[in-house]
Amino acid sequence: MSSEVVDTLINGAKIITMDEKRRIYMDGSIAIKGDQIAGIGKRVDIEKKYTATNNIDGRRFVITPGFINGHIHITGDPLTRNYVPDDIYCSPQEKLTKWVMPRYFAHSAEEERVSAQLAALEMLKAGTTCFLEAGTIRHLDSVVEGLNETGIRGRVGSWVTGRAMNPDEDQNQLNEEGIRTLENEVKRYPARKGNLISAWPILIGHSTNSDEIWQAAKTIADHNGLGISAHMSPYQEDPDWFLKEYGRRPIEHLESIGVLGDNVSLTHVAHIDENELNILARTGTNVIFCPLPALKGAFGVTSVGRYPEMTRAGINMLLGTDGYDIDILHSARIVASLFKDIHQDVRHYPVHETLTMLTCNGAKAMGMQDQIGSLEVGKKADFSCHDTDRSEWRPILSLVSQLIWSADGRGIHSVWVDGIRVIDNYRSTMIDEKELMGRVQECGESVIRKSKIPFVSPWPVIR
Ligand SMILES: [Zn+2]
Repeated sequence: MSSEVVDTLINGAKIITMDEKRRIYMDGSIAIKGDQIAGIGKRVDIEKKYTATNNIDGRRFVITPGFINGHIHITGDPLTRNYVPDDIYCSPQEKLTKWVMPRYFAHSAEEERVSAQLAALEMLKAGTTCFLEAGTIRHLDSVVEGLNETGIRGRVGSWVTGRAMNPDEDQNQLNEEGIRTLENEVKRYPARKGNLISAWPILIGHSTNSDEIWQAAKTIADHNGLGISAHMSPYQEDPDWFLKEYGRRPIEHLESIGVLGDNVSLTHVAHIDENELNILARTGTNVIFCPLPALKGAFGVTSVGRYPEMTRAGINMLLGTDGYDIDILHSARIVASLFKDIHQDVRHYPVHETLTMLTCNGAKAMGMQDQIGSLEVGKKADFSCHDTDRSEWRPILSLVSQLIWSADGRGIHSVWVDGIRVIDNYRSTMIDEKELMGRVQECGESVIRKSKIPFVSPWPVIR
């Protein structure tokens, strides 16, 4: 029998496939042809079936599907990395206007491009191959251009609000402008084959979008086979606002205007009641939990969060990092531990379920379950090689447990996206990292200067 020629063969690796049977190969191989996985299985079988121009010794690697980050601000936060002190005590609204918005609005197009590249590089190096952006990009063209240079896969959206906040704003005009932005971005960056980066109608959410904007986003998503995403209810402020405005809680209101469904992903969803939970389950709406911002921002998830209940109700839950710590394995470890302690029950979010959130659940929420999220023949070659020469992987005994409890993104040696090795030996093969880091420092200092946010330190900093 003559063997099939492929581009690359990685031989003798340990592979966590996340396929339907959740097979784990302790001596496995992957064959890559073009942007896809041509073969995967036991080394002895794959070696017989395929020959490659590029043969890689995989014995050093544990291979996992690329992780999917369901919520990240790739602008605004990366260049101002945790500059705002964690103990600023004020209302969420005041925090937004004094500490968050000035940083976002201080970015030039070039600074947003640099910020997006920094976020993409950091995600890739920590094993995230696909992300859903949070809808806070102000210079979309520059950002898409910058992302395309990095080789990452993602869905992005322009900053769209569109609710008149004071009497001199014209609601109709705001609706028209917002809807035009949503329509334009999905036309400019369509989710076509070969486009790693494309646009979704992503909304800021909370109370910032008018019903017309919500409905337009949902219609655009439905007509183009896309998804929509928005923030909702990290704090009690959102339920309070919706109850005052409509006499209904946020999720109840969104259902009543017809904008929930399995192509909708809501981020945070910390303050919900039983009825809202049932609506999310009934409509198939996805929920993105970002554990680090929840804990750092004192959302109250340990007392009011209903995430295990959501999982039990069959809601598709995935994880996001927001703008804080981009290594999503850190978020996974929090999820795997937090609810065990809260409920004094170790059965909450075992490691296998947690890894499913990072992979299969993420792919499902992004409408890409037939392409990514698991390593199977015909799917995209999007995966990471964890380096077992590092101490946290030794001795190699129980891969999934070690991945969630011992490893993190720093141990990722190589990453493939769409059949291309974008990280090799811990470095990007796509962009000049040293040059980017120089730009990051300049742009970060410039954004902070322009935002006029004060430097706060209880300790003397001597320059
Ligand atoms: Zn966010």
